[in-house]
This record gives sequence, C-alpha cells and structure tokens, in this order.
Amino acid sequence: MVKVLVLGAGVVGVSAAYYLNRAGHEVVVVDRRDGAGLETSFANAGHLCRATARPWASEAVPRMLIKEFGKVDAPYLLRLRADPAMWAWALAFLRRCTRARHRETAANLIRLAVYSIDSLATLRETEELAYDQAGLGILHLHRDDEAFERAAAEAEVGNGEGAFAPAVLDRAGCIRVEPALAQAGDQFAGGLHFGSEETGDAHLFTTALAQAAAARGVVFRYGVTVRALHDAGDAVTGAETDRGPITADAVVLSMGSYSAGVLRPLGLKLPIYPVKGYSATIPTTGYNGAPRLGIHDEARKIGISRLGDRLRAAGTAELAGYDNDLGEARARAILDQAMAIFPNAGDAAQAELWCGLRPMTPDNAPLLGHTRFRNLYLDTGHGSLGWTLACGSGRVIADIVSGRAPDIDLDGLTLDRFG
Ligand SMILES: Cc1cc2nc3c(=O)[nH]c(=O)nc-3n(C[C@H](O)[C@H](O)[C@H](O)COP(=O)(O)OP(=O)(O)OC[C@H]3O[C@@H](n4cnc5c(N)ncnc54)[C@H](O)[C@@H]3O)c2cc1C
Repeated sequence: MVKVLVLGAGVVGVSAAYYLNRAGHEVVVVDRRDGAGLETSFANAGHLCRATARPWASEAVPRMLIKEFGKVDAPYLLRLRADPAMWAWALAFLRRCTRARHRETAANLIRLAVYSIDSLATLRETEELAYDQAGLGILHLHRDDEAFERAAAEAEVGNGEGAFAPAVLDRAGCIRVEPALAQAGDQFAGGLHFGSEETGDAHLFTTALAQAAAARGVVFRYGVTVRALHDAGDAVTGAETDRGPITADAVVLSMGSYSAGVLRPLGLKLPIYPVKGYSATIPTTGYNGAPRLGIHDEARKIGISRLGDRLRAAGTAELAGYDNDLGEARARAILDQAMAIFPNAGDAAQAELWCGLRPMTPDNAPLLGHTRFRNLYLDTGHGSLGWTLACGSGRVIADIVSGRAPDIDLDGLTLDRFG
C-alpha cells in the first residue's frame, strides 16, 4: 500500500481515486473547487460510447472547417489569436485528419471504451450510483442522403465494431425507435442506431462515486489549489498547494485542461490544449416531446441525452485558449438546434447554458500511465470522451500504480506516442 495523491476531482480523477482505494492504497484527492465534477465534467453531452468512441480528426474535418468558417453555429471554430500552443496543436490535429490515422486511433479508443463501460456496469453492481442512467442506445442522425449512405456502407463493412454494430434505419425506422423524432419533419435522411450505447449525467455520477469513495476511506480536500509539483531526482515527492505542501509516495495527474501547465516547470510537455464546448439543459416536466434515446446529430456535431426530467444538448469545438466565458450566442445556437429537432421537448426559456474546456490531445486519445518520473502517473487528456473513458482509465492507473499489468493493451494511449 502506498499513499497516492490524485490531483483533480473531475470524473477522471474521482474514478482513479475509487479504483486506487479498491486496490488497497491510501488515497488523497485535491481539487480547487468546492466539490467534485464542477469543471468540464459538469454538463457534458452525457454519451457513453463504445463503437462510436471515435477521434474527431478525420478526412472530413478540413473541408468542414473551410465551409463553416466564421459561422456562429459552426461545429468547429478557431478564434484567430497569437497563441503558438494553439497553432501547434491545430497543426498536429490536422496532420491526423487522414483515414488511416482515424482508424488507428479509433481502434485504441474503442478498446479502452469497451473496457471502461464494462467496468462501469460492474461498478453499478457494487455501489449505489444514481446518475439518470439510460441504456437505450444512441441514434446517429444524418441530414443528407449522401452522408447517410456512406455511414450505412461503413456500418456494413463492420469497421471493427463487432458486437456493437448499429442498426441502419431510414427516416421511418428512426421514428419507430424514437417517436419524438416525428416532430423533426424531413430534417433527417436516416440514422444508425447503436443499441448498446448508454447515456447518463457525468456530474451526478462523479459526486455519487466521490461519496462512495469517501465512505471507503478516500480523503477529499476541496478548495485546495495545486501550484507546483516537488521533484527530487527521478521521482516526485508531492505537491505545493495554496494550503501548504502535501507529500505522497505516488502522484496521479488528472487536472483536465490544466494538466499541462503544472508539468511544464518539470520539463514535461503534454500535448493537451483546451477545446471549448457548450451545452444547454432543458427542463422537460410538463412536455411530451423529449427523446428517450441518446441522439447524435452528425452534421451539426451535437449530442443530446435525456437525463431524467431534463434534456441535455451539447457540442461545438472552439479553439480559444483558457477562456471559460460563456459565449451566449454559441450556447443558444445549440439550444435552438435541439429545439428545432424536438420542438415540444421542454421549456427552452428555462434552459441552463454552460461551457467547459475539453482537455484534448491532437488525436483525441488520453495520456495514461508512466512519465519519466518513476512515481508520477498520467490520467488525463481525455478530450471529448472523458465520461466514457473514466472508469477504464481509473482501473488502468490503479493497476499500474500497484505494479500490475493493466487488463488492456495501452498501445496509442500513453505519452510515448508523442515522442
Ligand atoms: C460540451 C462538451 C460535451 C461533452 N460530451 C461528452 C460526452 O458526451 N461523452 C464523453 O465521454 N465526454 C464528453 N465530454 C468530455 C468530458 O466532459 C471530459 O473529457 C471530462 O469531463 C474530463 O474530465 P477530467 O476529470 O479530466 O477534467 P475536469 O472535469 O475538468 O476535472 C479536472 C479537475 O481538476 C481541477 N483542477 C484543475 N486545476 C487545478 C489546480 N491547479 N489545483 C487543484 N485542482 C485543479 C478542476 O477543478 C477540476 O475539478 C464533453 C465535454 C464538453 C465540453
């Protein structure tokens, strides 16, 4: 048993803390906020994806960037600014927009995602975790015939999904599995229903798991800001915080978009850049037009989840540095697009708007495991898939810290791939 300090209480850090405790370690978690899951894990799209755990970088993205440039509701937006880190990240991302790189990264992501969601299912049997979970699948909708036919043909080939292959549905078929789509008129050509995908509220999950972990002995220190890590030779000895030093035998870094900054003084470079996204959460009580399935609008890149008596719509990717101001026009565009599909879903006037910074690596895969400091471990950089990948990543880290080989191959999921 060693004393492990987990930096960050988002969905990723809390999951790691839980599994480290279950592996027999003494665990302390610190976070600058007053509770768990209050930053990027707070109001995401709620999708838990196995087969659809894909990297963003694909052949189609450069074309889409040019076509949508400058539009307020563009799925991708780059704010022109003199930020060398942003341009370096954007170039690294663009270099990965090939079919071969996309497939390679997708295979690595799907491997971790399947492990992660299986781990979540086991976790639900062990702990009481209420997080507005639903297991009805996610319907990926295509707006034009050509895109739909291409997606249907790819699904036919199988594309590595095996048991998680989707049902290909024309417009009537989509309405059959999700009757609320009847209100969408002819906006969609068809869709792919991935029946084994799940949805749920990441923030509720994170707070429930933090409670379960605390009951098992994990110590959470909220309102504590990490300023630096202490190193001595080839090891770290703990963290310097605004409440004084905290020593530990091992440190797990899970500070989301802020992970790179704390390692820079140690000479470690993490290729993580914040990619801003927005969400709108609409109360559905008294309305009968909200979907029950998870929905992904492929053209607009918007994810929609029914979370109990709320409907969450989230999306867009904005490269704008560490700017966490709510750009209301961008958030409202998501709300309007969700209401255009489901006009009777809920009370749009009462919608809660939110934004968060995805901790993105250029290939969309996380950074897990060892660093060149023998007791400093990474569990960060989960980008657009942190909710999906949190449990699996936590188990991987608990195994590595315990000196055991993880259950899955970590090819393409460690810092080594960036040289
Ligand atoms: C619009 C949007 C939609 C998304 N949809 C999905 C989805 O459908 N499915 C999915 O799987 N993923 C989704 N994601 C991605 C997912 O939300 C993130 O990958 C995940 O929340 C990252 O979790 P994290 O724990 O790494 O980071 P965070 O939740 O940001 O946690 C990091 C923690 O570190 C703390 N911290 C930072 N700096 C310090 C410091 N100096 N001292 C102390 N504490 C510090 C923060 O307070 C924070 O609590 C979405 C993201 C966005 C923005």
